[in-house]
Amino acid sequence: MDIIDLHADLGSDLFTHVSTLEEAINRFGTVHLPGLQQGGYRAVGGASFFDGQQDWPTMQATMMRFRRVLQNFPEDVVIIEKPDDFDDDRLGVVLTVEGMGGVIEAPAAAVDWMSRLGIKIASLQWSEENALSTGINGDLRRGLTPLGKQAVKALNENRVIIDVSHANVRSFYDMMSLTAGPIIATHSNCFALHSHPRNLTDEQIRLISEHGGVIGLVAVWPFLESSKSEDTIYRLAEHAAHIAEISSIEHVALGFDFMDYYGESNASANLKGLSTFSEAQNCVSVFKQYGFSNDDIQKITSLNAKRIVNSIL
Ligand SMILES: [Zn+2]
Repeated sequence: MDIIDLHADLGSDLFTHVSTLEEAINRFGTVHLPGLQQGGYRAVGGASFFDGQQDWPTMQATMMRFRRVLQNFPEDVVIIEKPDDFDDDRLGVVLTVEGMGGVIEAPAAAVDWMSRLGIKIASLQWSEENALSTGINGDLRRGLTPLGKQAVKALNENRVIIDVSHANVRSFYDMMSLTAGPIIATHSNCFALHSHPRNLTDEQIRLISEHGGVIGLVAVWPFLESSKSEDTIYRLAEHAAHIAEISSIEHVALGFDFMDYYGESNASANLKGLSTFSEAQNCVSVFKQYGFSNDDIQKITSLNAKRIVNSIL
């Protein structure tokens, strides 16, 4: 079954873990691409991830390098820029940004630049506070800043989908009340089932759905259980069912956040049986076992993500 996984930190991996463009091309071609192809990926949300330590020129260099790497694989990869790009035989890559901490002035110009480069999904914040917004580790009373409000407007105008994953509650509601475009949580699960601070409350899930968005189920074990076990993978189906029950199946998607390639400290963060691109199809059998129909599984694994990305192309 086709997989569209909305979140993988490929852009930052290809900037921080190798030093030259040539090495990055080699890494993508030997480490990432074979796994994505083996896992039956239709498309992946390739994130340039910034934890807040990077300035704007570093952010630009990361995003540019990722695009250049992908352009070196014209027979295997298509950067998603128009609706029928998803129907291409090649692997689709939706360019995304996670955390805009390097943007400390003129957010509209930064967003224009990102949009011209082909960025289709962006989150203002990672987990900390920045000049635009406040992540889950920030001050509870702090939400979007005036610059952050300008950024939301610019993202709407440039038809870039706003990603609320990592936002604190106040920033989440600020973005909800301001945005005129779709909202997405690329990689978050349900707080009602497991009280991880990055998971979304039922009210947040309903609001994202009302804005036409989707929630990408994340395959990182602390988002699902207090300890990692063989069975943690089955919790993913419970979270899918919960989102479907309180909103509808149209709003469930995937955002696995695989990190096996992202340094040793992250290597065991994912689930047993769902820990790397090539294992992505294992989610299909888990959804089947839970009782989802084939139609519903297709919606979760690719169609819902395709719908929301196509809506802004
Ligand atoms: Zn993240």
